[in-house]
Amino acid sequence: SKRDISSKDLDNLAKTSFPLCMHHLFKKLREDHHLRHGGRQQLGLFLKGIGLKLEDALAFWKNEFSHKIGPDKFDKEYAYNVRHNYGKEGKKTDYTPYSCVRIIMSTPGVGDHHGCPYRHFSEENLRATLGTLRLSTPAVAEVLEKVRSHHYQLACATAFEAIHGSPSEGINHPNQYFDQSQKLLQ
Ligand code: SF4
Repeated sequence: SKRDISSKDLDNLAKTSFPLCMHHLFKKLREDHHLRHGGRQQLGLFLKGIGLKLEDALAFWKNEFSHKIGPDKFDKEYAYNVRHNYGKEGKKTDYTPYSCVRIIMSTPGVGDHHGCPYRHFSEENLRATLGTLRLSTPAVAEVLEKVRSHHYQLACATAFEAIHGSPSEGINHPNQYFDQSQKLLQ
């Protein structure tokens, strides 16, 4: 069975094992203490998928959002949505994390940080972001070549391989990226 993840593990895991889409959302949340709906859904369901329990998820989102809006407003306006994603509100559906295809097909607007960076970032922005992951120049070139031919998941797999120094099984799902990464690191 999956191990439980606590919110204090997240900074480390984001560095080592989050795919770029989630790494970006996590970074923006930490910087802005806010994410718009699309980002909260994409990251929130991913975190649920890696094993963050409801209570820890509530504490994590509340801690971030409270910097800006205060704890009361979080409880009133945002806690419902977190519980809803865990199947505790409304229709009580146990929502599943989004696949790469779904994320790639999404249409983030101005001010949104969800989506797939390989699909939705400008080349310049993607190049700079890959640089912060300490990808070598040839690895960055290979990723950008795949992006130019619209092979976003292959670009992500190339980045995975450069980061981990090991081949991937192919990337179809952000949670599968995470699991592959954790397997290699353990
Ligand atoms: Fe995320 Fe999938 Fe895009 Fe990789 S290919 S960044 S896992 S959506």
